[in-house]
Amino acid sequence: MEYDVIIIGAGAVGCACARELSRYRLSIAVLEKNSDVAGETTGRNSAVVHAGFNNRPGSRMASLCVEGNEGFADLAQKLDVPFRETGKLLLAFDDEDVQTLEHLLAQGRMNGCRDLEILEGRRLEQLLEERGMGSIGGAAAGRSGPAKALWSPHTGITNPFLYCAALAENARANGAQFYLDTEVTGIRRAGAREHEPEGQRFRIEAGGRNFGCRYLINAAGLQADRIAAMAGADRYHIYPCRGEYFILDKSELAMPVYPAPRKKAGGLGVHLTPTSDGNIIIGPSAEYLDIRDDYACTRPVMEELMRQAVQLVPAVRDMQPIGNYSGIRPKLAPPEEGGYQDFVIRAEEDVLGLIDLVGIESPGLTASVPIARQVCRMIEQMERAGAAGRSSRGLRRKNDFEESRRGILRFREQSPQRQAELIREDPEYGEIICRCQKITKREIRQAIENPLGARSIAAIKYRAWATTGRCNGGYCLPRITEMLVREYGVKPEEIRYRNSGSEMFAGRVK
Ligand SMILES: Cc1cc2nc3c(=O)[nH]c(=O)nc-3n(C[C@H](O)[C@H](O)[C@H](O)COP(=O)(O)OP(=O)(O)OC[C@H]3O[C@@H](n4cnc5c(N)ncnc54)[C@H](O)[C@@H]3O)c2cc1C
Repeated sequence: MEYDVIIIGAGAVGCACARELSRYRLSIAVLEKNSDVAGETTGRNSAVVHAGFNNRPGSRMASLCVEGNEGFADLAQKLDVPFRETGKLLLAFDDEDVQTLEHLLAQGRMNGCRDLEILEGRRLEQLLEERGMGSIGGAAAGRSGPAKALWSPHTGITNPFLYCAALAENARANGAQFYLDTEVTGIRRAGAREHEPEGQRFRIEAGGRNFGCRYLINAAGLQADRIAAMAGADRYHIYPCRGEYFILDKSELAMPVYPAPRKKAGGLGVHLTPTSDGNIIIGPSAEYLDIRDDYACTRPVMEELMRQAVQLVPAVRDMQPIGNYSGIRPKLAPPEEGGYQDFVIRAEEDVLGLIDLVGIESPGLTASVPIARQVCRMIEQMERAGAAGRSSRGLRRKNDFEESRRGILRFREQSPQRQAELIREDPEYGEIICRCQKITKREIRQAIENPLGARSIAAIKYRAWATTGRCNGGYCLPRITEMLVREYGVKPEEIRYRNSGSEMFAGRVK
């Protein structure tokens, strides 16, 4: 199968590339080893749309994060994705913390972050009271040293899975093809077509099939160094660094609350963040690993997370943990160095047509669309220079690019009057499948019929938010299974939780 552009990896960055490139007259395919988008780092993070003050001025991380933050509200509206500009507080407990906040304030202003300020005394108390976060002020004041906070009003939160799925679905609607369960296992340069000089196409083996393309975009996250090496650019090394999280039951927290970050730490410090679904997450830790897919949550780290969280917000003691997860940062900075190395976004000169996106750790979610725009500019330049076998006047825009997309309408969030209208329009809105979260049959059907063709239980769970309540799917899972079997002709033994190997049913029980 031949394409102009192939993207390896359907995380936020790969899906953003697919969407941005689908504005042009190009044939595009995305190859993803998992059964759905956002299965790795994109689906396992803090979900914060950062403002951009944490990154070194002049770095790609800084400029692309600021650009991503500024455009996020508009993008979220077009893609029908949750986004709330909550603001964010970084708390200082001692002089070293205060110096860190002053440095971040100056850095943020250099990066172009808007409206940052350091609050203290009455102004800090007032903000906390207004947001129903009085106990945090008490915590800060109750410890030695000055209680100040860096206030970033334009930081926000999103739902990373829905964001990534929306980018992918919109790219799909604009012509990009998605191949799920399709792991890239080999890349070589060979066999030109028609007018293209020998060796200027990529030949890709993936999921037992062969693909060809002129431009290859490596958005493989934790595997990006290995994919680069496969394609002939053996010059990167990724150091996986795990961050573990607690998920707390539904609780009130108006905005993310962070400590002042420590130098050389692998992340931004253990923070509390509200999720777009009303839970709170605590984390992440930062622990370098030898393997790249060890998503374990470990007792000593979880205990340490809770200890640090209570120092920030004492009220956490009374909140109920209901789950945990971890994500792995694809770091370019080795453990002995710590901290951050800048994103690599590079059109490789010695492998024409290859664009490597390596070391896309935080703030990669926020920066995903600006990264994709940069990729478009690189392809445009190569296209004009005839670098990948064909000289032209550059990329041609489509007239019919559709930039909006509608997600699944959440029945439980509608007014009683609207709910009644919906049930009249479609009786499936009147049938509740997930009792804990009040998800209707119509929403489950929309999730099953997603445009990417992802049919795992996790694909339905993250799209419709079913099975996420206190019964852990005890009520709705058999009903979703029944729908898949009866109405979609799927065999029970074929139903997987997520990827191949996670089949859920071994045989009939009744
Ligand atoms: C603990 C933690 C907290 C974070 N918090 C934030 C935050 O609050 N805000 C923020 O902006 N950023 C945050 N980030 C960073 C953000 O999550 C990442 O920068 C972003 O998700 C990277 O997206 P990606 O598409 O590059 O990578 P990924 O999401 O990892 O996608 C890469 C894809 O490539 C696929 N792939 C790999 N190898 C192959 C192959 N051989 N064949 C086919 N497919 C392949 C993978 O399966 C995967 O789906 C955080 C990260 C971590 C780990």
